[in-house]
Amino acid sequence: MSERPEKSDKNETKFFTRRIPGVESKEPMVTPPSSAPDQSMLKKPKPVSGGPKKRMIAEGTFTKCPKCKETVFRKELEANLNVCRHCEHHFMLTAWDRVHLLVDEDSFEQMDADMSSVDVLEFPGYLSKLEANQQKTGMKDAVITGLGQMEHHRIALGVMDFSFNGGSMGSVVGEKLTRVIEKGTELGLPVIICSTSGGARMYEGMFSLMQMAKTCGALAYHGKRKLPFISLLTDPTMAGVMASFATVADLIIAEPGARIGFAGPRVIKDTTKADLPDGFQTAEFLQDRGLIDAIVPRKELKEQLAYYLDFMMAGHRSASKAG
Ligand SMILES: [Zn+2]
Repeated sequence: MSERPEKSDKNETKFFTRRIPGVESKEPMVTPPSSAPDQSMLKKPKPVSGGPKKRMIAEGTFTKCPKCKETVFRKELEANLNVCRHCEHHFMLTAWDRVHLLVDEDSFEQMDADMSSVDVLEFPGYLSKLEANQQKTGMKDAVITGLGQMEHHRIALGVMDFSFNGGSMGSVVGEKLTRVIEKGTELGLPVIICSTSGGARMYEGMFSLMQMAKTCGALAYHGKRKLPFISLLTDPTMAGVMASFATVADLIIAEPGARIGFAGPRVIKDTTKADLPDGFQTAEFLQDRGLIDAIVPRKELKEQLAYYLDFMMAGHRSASKAG
């Protein structure tokens, strides 16, 4: 703003020093001494904290790795894409961090950023819960969608965020994913969806369950155009998301150690009255049994996805030519 030149650039300030003729400051150059007698020499100064100096460490500077139990410096963890450098445990990633990880810089065009849920069932406490999650994450709902460039491929991308109400799929998650899939179909782009979810959003009842069919319907049209869809399962991906779009992909990949399943292990154990095998519902367990095609470490993710798309888009082009 032109009226506040003191806040402009260093280079500019020397040209725009504020001088208003006739309005000189009446304030003295230094603060005059207090009229009260100086008592600073009469009392012995008290120690500030009352004991030896303690080194203060800000809360949240360190975190404990749940797998190897090592204490990890949070900044170091973030610099390593939230992967523990001792044991390669993959911590959760926010949706925006993952978008930045996957698409080329400045190439992401977000879609439907302001779409927000309405409390259609008037579920007690839902609106305040939504608001709290919006404030916590800075997102309107649990998914970010848009178009971006991944190396030499333009892609339609959806990325879920577990920190927004457990990544639950309500009508906004379903609608945003459906729209980005339809955009991909319209423009002839591959679709990549990165899932992390506790399942359908119970506050929206039947409306959240309907998203399962809607997203799968949009993917069926995308598939009819012989366009590839890659599903990335990250920790954790459960229930309604796992039972719908996340598992109808041409290629299903997962991050190492991701917990993946439909019902939780406790529910299954209680229902079947059987002991569950080691590593039950992990990415590795499911890869051994054929549900997951590949497990890709986070550091290799972008490169590997682009490599898969090289093959799949070449297949799409030859299939389209053949009609
Ligand atoms: Zn670790």
